[in-house]
Amino acid sequence: MTLDATQDNLIVGVIGAGAMGRGIAQVAATGGCSVKLFDTRKEATKEAIGFIEGMFNRAVEKERMTIDEAKSAVGHLHATSSMSDFSDCHVIIEAAVENLDIKRKIFAELESIVADDVVLASNTSSLSITTIASKCKNPERVAGFHFFNPVPLMKLVEVINGIRTNPKVTDFLFELGKRMGRVPVRVADAPGFLVNQVGRGYTIEAAHLFSEGVASFVEVDRIMRDAAGFRMGPFELMDLTAIDVTHPATDLIYQQFYHEARYRPSTLMNTRMEAGFLGRKTGEGFYVYEGGKQQAPEEKKAPNYDGRAVWVSQVHVHAYEQIIGILNKLNATIDEGEEPDDNSLCIVSPLGIDATTAAIEEGLNPEHTIAIDTLFNLSLRRTLMKTPVTDPAYTKSAHGLFASDDTPVTVVRDSTGFVSQRIVAMIVNIGCSIAQSGAATPEDIDKAVMLGLGYPHGPLGFGDTVGADRILEILISIFEMTGDPRYRPTPWLRRRALLGLSLLTTET
Ligand code: NAD
Repeated sequence: MTLDATQDNLIVGVIGAGAMGRGIAQVAATGGCSVKLFDTRKEATKEAIGFIEGMFNRAVEKERMTIDEAKSAVGHLHATSSMSDFSDCHVIIEAAVENLDIKRKIFAELESIVADDVVLASNTSSLSITTIASKCKNPERVAGFHFFNPVPLMKLVEVINGIRTNPKVTDFLFELGKRMGRVPVRVADAPGFLVNQVGRGYTIEAAHLFSEGVASFVEVDRIMRDAAGFRMGPFELMDLTAIDVTHPATDLIYQQFYHEARYRPSTLMNTRMEAGFLGRKTGEGFYVYEGGKQQAPEEKKAPNYDGRAVWVSQVHVHAYEQIIGILNKLNATIDEGEEPDDNSLCIVSPLGIDATTAAIEEGLNPEHTIAIDTLFNLSLRRTLMKTPVTDPAYTKSAHGLFASDDTPVTVVRDSTGFVSQRIVAMIVNIGCSIAQSGAATPEDIDKAVMLGLGYPHGPLGFGDTVGADRILEILISIFEMTGDPRYRPTPWLRRRALLGLSLLTTET
């Protein structure tokens, strides 16, 4: 097999001229490949080429392309009305509907049309490459080439090797991805591949938190945006992608992993989908949309701090220093006693345990105890957590105090690991499970997630930023408290946390 993605006259066949197929055709033509586009809907290929021409014209207007470059790229696009026209293609990228039988039929037909050394790639987002390839005469030439929507804007492409894929085929697709202006990342065939697997950590844990009544979806979104640094909260994200897309994809990954608890959806996702709260596209999901604009309730004004003395737990030294630093700036009255005075507000900073357990373990009055989440910098938003019996006067006092420099504060109900600890620990742990399986390198896991999902860090970088030992402590505590295997830390994380290693360290 001699494959050269850089050759001048490379001919790329694209099957399916929908949202993805047209994007793939566009970036292939931009990369100087000759592109043949086929769709069972005859008018679809012409529409797609017209659409791509429009994109090139806009690129010329914005001076991102010269007129000559645009003309040359358009000249590379050819609509075909039959797959038999693909006989001279060097590679074919299938982007037809997400249906295994249809894809298998397409691949079987292609095998009767093209030469033995032609690469067959699928842009499937949820079907196994190994399964698609399994009915092919030559499964070694079949691989995944998973682009993201909208293709011209999303730089990432996952290059997926099925169990039988010849490494030369993925090497070729890797180079072709670069020629198409993408950033390719190698991934082994697995449910959700890499990016869609990690993405489950964000939305599923958020849905569990909401359904457990820990916080409202608006509060979860605010915490994840402001405190943890995500561009979008998990619920606004689900509204954007639509729950009838997110939930079936989540459920499929869960089924494909034989009910691995880490990927277990919340029942809330299904009931909201059944009820028709689909998201932006129907005008109502978690949020209501008027004229396309999200209607989020305004944040309530914080109460006033009543001047009550504040005692701070020293169980976590780093957290203690962080909290005392803020309290000094806020001119709070600090109770410096070894034990709190009878009327002092008691502040604890648990990792993975709830406020109730922290209060009881430290011998504090749970009616006077409030927990604060110190996983992230406390400058943009502060999350406080009540025990079920925290006196409302103490909650108000803590809320007023921590908001007295106008930093927004969210008060949540008792939870093992607040909001951000739970969600981020899940993301890190899923990233570690992928690294453990060897499906991708630590560096590629982070690169793919940052490019594909726009997270502020990749899962492993997140672990390094907040501390792998803290993530491990959070997971161990949640697992012990809930007994839910969903939260069990991967041995891969545990080893690195014990060794004090960066999660991005390559193994010797
Ligand atoms: P789409 O519905 O926009 O387009 C699919 C196109 O395939 C349609 O034009 C349809 O007429 C055509 N088609 C159907 N059967 C065909 C056949 N037998 N031969 C040729 N053409 C056929 O869908 P899409 O969003 O472009 O998705 C295409 C593929 O890309 C799916 O496998 C999907 O899972 C995957 N994908 C989608 C996204 C996304 O966000 N939309 C992202 C990554 C991957």
